[in-house]
Amino acid sequence: MSILKFIQKLLKIKGYHVIDFTFNNWCKELWLEVKPHKNGARCPKCNRRGKIIRIFDKPRVWWDVPVCGKDVFLVYRPREINCRRHGRVQENIPWAAQHARVTYRFEFLLLSYCAVMTQKAASKLLKISTSTLSDMLHRTITMVRKDHRIKGLTHIGIDEISYCKGRKYATIVYDLKRSCVLWVGLGKGRETIDRFFAEELSAFQRRQIVAASCDMGQAYIRAIEHWCPKATLVLDRFHVVKALKAAVDEVRKEQWREADKESRLDPIKKFVETVRTHRHRLLPFVENRLTNAIAEGLNRIIKIVKNRASGFRTLDAFSDMIFLTVGDVDIPGQIPARFRTL
Ligand SMILES: [Zn+2]
Repeated sequence: MSILKFIQKLLKIKGYHVIDFTFNNWCKELWLEVKPHKNGARCPKCNRRGKIIRIFDKPRVWWDVPVCGKDVFLVYRPREINCRRHGRVQENIPWAAQHARVTYRFEFLLLSYCAVMTQKAASKLLKISTSTLSDMLHRTITMVRKDHRIKGLTHIGIDEISYCKGRKYATIVYDLKRSCVLWVGLGKGRETIDRFFAEELSAFQRRQIVAASCDMGQAYIRAIEHWCPKATLVLDRFHVVKALKAAVDEVRKEQWREADKESRLDPIKKFVETVRTHRHRLLPFVENRLTNAIAEGLNRIIKIVKNRASGFRTLDAFSDMIFLTVGDVDIPGQIPARFRTL
């Protein structure tokens, strides 16, 4: 076996050849000169073969996954082709996205790391800055989720969560049957949830929803009643219990303050009033056992992700991590076998 073939097999390089290699920077870096397997060059937009016009003088360099602590770089001089539909374009590069400086498998490795560790830890392992990592992660997840549509939604859950200090909120929509997150929207309240129903679901899909679960906030209740009038609305029992606990706490505090007087139990009365108002929305829980427990479970995972990162500055960064860990698309599962390194 030739040394080039050995490198090719060792690094599991498929679809292109290694034609030369050098060790640089006191052997810390392995530079591989590569070329695509097939002779023809294809258009990156339509994937049709195009006539080769010229070879670029300047080679391009892509960062690949590190091997035994050594950074690996791929070097290649791309060709310019003439596509019948798109004119003069740089040929499609089989190992990397069009303008990327890293290979697909580097991006996918990063994705697998981020699913199990903080972005900070992943950036340290891959020797890139956290902001670069965050950008790459966003690009890869957007690419994998592109053209994805919500399917078969019958049981919907809606909740809100803060993703950053300073009262920045996001609304999260769950598929309670499949235990996953479908949508993350900036803000909370009616406007945000209306956006989901109007933009993400068709009229047919809205009619297919048979049950919906949310907290006692009027915004979500009104939105569900408006968009899915046929759905059984079930208020989340966890939020009811939370409201009762808050009422009991309030009574305790009052008793503490007015140790001598007899307390009027006003907060409890208020709680009973709330339960009475929502009675018709609480009782369905007993019948069909639909509960936000699944959403609560997912929420717990989301909170772990959030605390692990000590909050997120942007909603994009937050929703990327939600979709990566509890999203409706198995993102690591979408990685083509030839780009897997783990
Ligand atoms: Zn084309």
